[in-house]
Amino acid sequence: AKLKEGLTKTRQGITAKVDQVLKAYKKVDEELFEEIEEILITADVGVSTTMAIIDKLRSQAKERKISEARDLRSLLKEILWETLDLNKSHALHMDPLPAIILVVGVNGVGKTTSIGKLAHKLKSEGKKVLLAAGDTFRAAAIDQLEIWGNRVGVDVIKHQEGSDPAAVIYDAIQAAKARKIDVLICDTAGRLHNKTNLMNELGKVRKIVEREYGEASKEILLVLDATTGQNAIQQAKIFNDAVDVSGIVLTKLDGTAKGGVILGISSELNIPVKLIGVGEGMNDLQEFKPKEFVNALFG
Ligand code: GDP
Repeated sequence: AKLKEGLTKTRQGITAKVDQVLKAYKKVDEELFEEIEEILITADVGVSTTMAIIDKLRSQAKERKISEARDLRSLLKEILWETLDLNKSHALHMDPLPAIILVVGVNGVGKTTSIGKLAHKLKSEGKKVLLAAGDTFRAAAIDQLEIWGNRVGVDVIKHQEGSDPAAVIYDAIQAAKARKIDVLICDTAGRLHNKTNLMNELGKVRKIVEREYGEASKEILLVLDATTGQNAIQQAKIFNDAVDVSGIVLTKLDGTAKGGVILGISSELNIPVKLIGVGEGMNDLQEFKPKEFVNALFG
């Protein structure tokens, strides 16, 4: 229900408009495909993803001999679902324990909030969770993470502002081992002006994880803000060049008309969306399930 409610504007921007043109056209023709193309581009799906979707729609409509415009609806729904499900593994990597999740992303996208919500989610599934305040650049980031830690009842390993993030992660890994933690979620700095800077910053953290944990963290989650639309895709490309992002957390899907960007992310990046943010509360982080998502969009 929360998902459906959150997607209201995106649904108005995609499904409601598609329904309008399907009704207006009655019969399938080339102009109708162009109208749908226009709708998807306007809804922040992105040009190349839209093209791929429309090509598929056109060829499958032909193959299935669909001539009534209204019959395109379920075909479009199917194709959008396939587009969202290109990356089949939407679940978080959870072994070996403790699982280490590095969370990256630029400031303001909802990184701290997502970490807090994820801690709450995992904790309510019965897991022992620990947080690491690896964004040592901003005192506010450490404070915010601690507020979330208190709110959801999870400890936070922190150092002072300005200290070495790698040292915080080192301490957190030791604590996770000693306390038999199931999941350690590490915040990282989001003040990243360029790729070299980003690689240096995150490279050090990753090295510590490899050394102290015995292997690379399997889960590097990139947090992206849906309200930034196509910019989110650009950000993802920069981050993915610097570190191997294993999954995406797409925040602020509630209340934005730009939710279509999730289609562009799914098809252009070859990185699965794993979690979606649909509000500011601690229960407002959901596992991303493509079928549920299209159902909410078309429902
Ligand atoms: P950070 O700088 O990336 O750590 O960003 P924060 O976690 O501090 O979040 C920035 C703002 O976005 C805060 O006001 C959050 O409440 C808000 N926010 C984060 N996720 C969501 C979401 O899924 N939906 C909505 N509506 N707001 C969100």
